[in-house]
Amino acid sequence: MVGSVAFDSVKTPFGERDRILGGSATYFSVAASFFTNVRVVAVVGDDFGPAEEAVFRDRQVDISDLERVPGRSFYWSGEYGFDLNVAETRDTQLNVFADFKPKLSTAAKATPYLFLGNIQPQLQVEVREQVGAKLIAADTMNYWINNTPEELGEMLKRIDLLVINDAEAREIGKEANLVRAARRILSMGPKRLVVKRGEYGVAMFTGDSYFATPAYPLEEVFDPTGAGDSFAGGFMGYLAATNATNEGAVRRAIIYGSVMASFNVEEFGCERMRRLTYDEINARFRELRAFSHFEEAEMPPF
Ligand code: AMP
Repeated sequence: MVGSVAFDSVKTPFGERDRILGGSATYFSVAASFFTNVRVVAVVGDDFGPAEEAVFRDRQVDISDLERVPGRSFYWSGEYGFDLNVAETRDTQLNVFADFKPKLSTAAKATPYLFLGNIQPQLQVEVREQVGAKLIAADTMNYWINNTPEELGEMLKRIDLLVINDAEAREIGKEANLVRAARRILSMGPKRLVVKRGEYGVAMFTGDSYFATPAYPLEEVFDPTGAGDSFAGGFMGYLAATNATNEGAVRRAIIYGSVMASFNVEEFGCERMRRLTYDEINARFRELRAFSHFEEAEMPPF
């Protein structure tokens, strides 16, 4: 995966943290590491030290393609009100990402599954061009939709699957109606669109199919930062682990993604995911399956 490795300052109604490890690549790779081998392509500055490195190493995430250069790492500052589905960005500093020219190792180029995490679309394209993977998926956010729309359009032409949230889908599709926005996005490149809807779950669109699932009904959501990336990590990690991209596998991947996101938001940063067990993951998978399962029925005679 390629994405941001960042320091985040986050404020939620339940607390505040300054300069904790975050970034799309961090949340994604920790989540995906429960399913498969993950390799991160990104850049960090000299503020990235042993404590940050341990987050990746403890999960056996391969960081040999993580470049280290003098300067400061990507920095993001955001705040949430009581509607935890909406993050308000206070500050974005690209720092070392501004001049990043990813040069992938031979092993990275050979990956069968590639996730272009949220980062400059032109960087996503540069990485994509170096890889001939079986499945290429991507994420983006309003920052890039507004600031680099042409580059985003180029990125969309080069991917199989797009994973974004509903506000982003409406913005890219230029439609208030999600179904119409989805159809428009599917005409821009990706064959499959996965729309994250925060506490309301996930919806998936292709040219001829639709699937939706609720989110895990949590009573305690502490910090929604990284929900999207940990979703994507569980989703791609499961597909890579099973080496399958058929409809059934993609639906199960959505459930695993939802499970990983539900754990991630229970605490600040990656704290909760770092303590997670397979028993916990599988138990929540079964619960989520049961929550929306129903049998076929026939109308009784009236
Ligand atoms: P999400 O999964 O959508 O909550 O993503 C949260 C993470 O995205 C945070 O840890 C941020 O460091 C990172 N982030 C925020 N803005 C950007 C951006 N413009 N480009 C790349 N990463 C970002």
